[in-house]
Amino acid sequence: FVSYGSGVTWDDVVAESVSNGWHGAENLSLIPGEVGASAVQNIGAYGAEAKDLIFDVEAVEIATGNVVRMFNADCQYAYRQSRFKHEWKNKYLITHVTYRFSRTFTPDLDYGNIRHSLEAKGIVTPTAEELRHTIIEIRQAKLPDPKVMGNAGSFFMNPVVGRDVYERLAAQYEGMPHYVVDNEHIKIPAGWMIEQCGWKGRSLGRAGVHDRQALVLVNRGGATGSEVVTLYEQIIKDVKAKFGIEIHPEVNVI
Ligand SMILES: Cc1cc2nc3c(=O)[nH]c(=O)nc-3n(C[C@H](O)[C@H](O)[C@H](O)COP(=O)(O)OP(=O)(O)OC[C@H]3O[C@@H](n4cnc5c(N)ncnc54)[C@H](O)[C@@H]3O)c2cc1C
Repeated sequence: FVSYGSGVTWDDVVAESVSNGWHGAENLSLIPGEVGASAVQNIGAYGAEAKDLIFDVEAVEIATGNVVRMFNADCQYAYRQSRFKHEWKNKYLITHVTYRFSRTFTPDLDYGNIRHSLEAKGIVTPTAEELRHTIIEIRQAKLPDPKVMGNAGSFFMNPVVGRDVYERLAAQYEGMPHYVVDNEHIKIPAGWMIEQCGWKGRSLGRAGVHDRQALVLVNRGGATGSEVVTLYEQIIKDVKAKFGIEIHPEVNVI
């Protein structure tokens, strides 16, 4: 169990855990942001989520100044969701998050092209350091650096659909990428659907869709908030018209 202050940079947590042999955070390497937000957003990547590591969250109740402690189950974690984003919104200031790591390294290589990237380097059974570095390389190759081109990472959540919906679409789109969530639910990459709608690399005004990763909306220079909203609303409409699936933003629109 390791407790961090909410202002610690998340990737420093991952780096420290990997170098100390505390496992479970490797696939969450290089996600921008801080520890406090990891517990709000339930950050996730490559099949791993913060909720799998969070043991408890310490916070100050803003109205009273009381220090409270929430356990993982209290936070109602789900895909990119938590109680902090809904009924607890603006109610608590998170001060610490305690993560529970594992002493055993059980690499999860099944998501995206992790295994393929490792194999390209001749690695079949990676160490935690090798896995972290591979994730960093994949992310750097695919995601634009916000310091160079304004973006908020993945703009949309990947929709989880019923098996019937998946089977209907899979019959229509051969080789459609998907991830099995459980017996009845399948996750379909929103980026793939956006690409199928012809949006990859396209712009609307000064906001656009990244040319290497259709899930990422970018500011091509001077785009206003409303230009980004116009773009994402159009993308939602097009995906709905083509696939019958409504996708939702992952970002918080303020
Ligand atoms: C290039 C790029 C790639 C990204 N990739 C991923 C990814 O792979 N997976 C993923 O999940 N996300 C990803 N993101 C999104 C982002 O990294 C996460 O949402 C991250 O948690 C944001 O951290 P932050 O510290 O900037 O939080 P902010 O964006 O500042 O805050 C997020 C929310 O948390 C609240 N909050 C933050 N700190 C506290 C606190 N101490 N107490 C109470 N509330 C608080 C804020 O009020 C806000 O509602 C990416 C973003 C970018 C730019």
